[in-house]
Amino acid sequence: MIVTKFGGSSMADAGQYRKIRDIILSNPDRKVVVVSAAGKRFKNDHKITDLLYLCFAHAQYGVDCSGIFEMIRSRYQEIREELNIDLDLDAEFEALKKRIDSKSVSQDELVSRGEYFSAKLMAGFLGFDFIDSADWVRFNFDGSVDQEKTYAALKDLYRGNGAVIPGFYGLMPDGHIKTFSRGGSDITGSLAAAALDASVYENWTDVSGILMADPRIVEDPQAIPEVTYDELRELSYSGAQVLHEGSIFPVREKNIPLNIRNTNAPDEPGTMIQEHFDGDHDPNRFITGITGKKDFTIISLSKRGMSNQVGVLRKVLTVLERHGISVDYVPNGIDNVSVVMPTDALAPHLYAVLSEIKKDVEPDTLDVHDQIAVVAAVGRKMAYRPGISGKIFAALGEENVNIRMINQGPDELNIIFGVDNQDFEKAIRVLYNSFVK
Ligand code: ASP
Repeated sequence: MIVTKFGGSSMADAGQYRKIRDIILSNPDRKVVVVSAAGKRFKNDHKITDLLYLCFAHAQYGVDCSGIFEMIRSRYQEIREELNIDLDLDAEFEALKKRIDSKSVSQDELVSRGEYFSAKLMAGFLGFDFIDSADWVRFNFDGSVDQEKTYAALKDLYRGNGAVIPGFYGLMPDGHIKTFSRGGSDITGSLAAAALDASVYENWTDVSGILMADPRIVEDPQAIPEVTYDELRELSYSGAQVLHEGSIFPVREKNIPLNIRNTNAPDEPGTMIQEHFDGDHDPNRFITGITGKKDFTIISLSKRGMSNQVGVLRKVLTVLERHGISVDYVPNGIDNVSVVMPTDALAPHLYAVLSEIKKDVEPDTLDVHDQIAVVAAVGRKMAYRPGISGKIFAALGEENVNIRMINQGPDELNIIFGVDNQDFEKAIRVLYNSFVK
């Protein structure tokens, strides 16, 4: 059995609903369908979830939100009418509007209605059962998911027929509706897959998988066919954002493969995410993906004899810890060490941090370099293969990209290096063109 999840752009209008029906009908194993609220139909369109947040903000300050509410209602009504779905949502919309006006609906409950109405309509359209997430997704008081209760409740509710489930929300122990953070329908899908021991969790979106590089930098990048969870973690930590972070754990724990697919190009295989892969998709390719972020600052200090002294690094890190700054990389030499962190985290504390390092560490030199970008070449196949970093740095050197920092962990899952912000896009393009194309 396959659990599918369709994101906002896949749910945006009647045409998208039809595509979903074709996808579901083309494989009888696709029995469970988790849906997002309707997303954007075109570039400057509004997401229903955004409109719901806006509606709540208006009502909270006593400003009439009827106009916004009407936009929401009519989006769903249009879909219902165009698809001839035999379902009357008017009474529910009316009741909801009354509760907004009397301020008796919480923000979480109101914004969760985007998914709720999506799921109701999709269930009607497909002729599937509707399973409300308020009846099975169980939160603890601290906001974490009570997995045991959640899985047991869904197993109990699911009859083995086709079912549509709204993403994004569940129930607190006190009976109130609570939502996940934004993008959280991915988590609902993952929980459903884990609860029902699905063979695959298919996450359908509007790109043909996780791309090997940012399409704003590399023209028409290829999708990654296979990526491990560890690689994905590296890729998303350094920039690439595809799935909600919280959606990994439930399926990973149960060893259920996660397949990212494109609703608008259903024949493409997308990206498969698994713990391990046995075969080798493309033995010649050692880079799985290239990613990175701009705007880091490096604080470098040197002190004669530092390599023989105990506690210098700890003192530096303690200063940063006092200011609540998380350090990303710590490249070092014999008598020098650098700490690398996002500029926006450091900036408000910069002078205090420098003066405290001066006082606590008494370095011989202390320098700050900003406008640094970090690029990560990620690939499980780089491990234990000599010559890879040589090739990468040679390619960058040929294109005159100056490397400001190099970092590679012993697991050899990635090679991370720093360049000037202005070389960021170029560095990514050089890597892509040299090693992917
Ligand atoms: N509709 C919610 C959001 O826009 C949740 C989701 O789509 O995953 O964040």
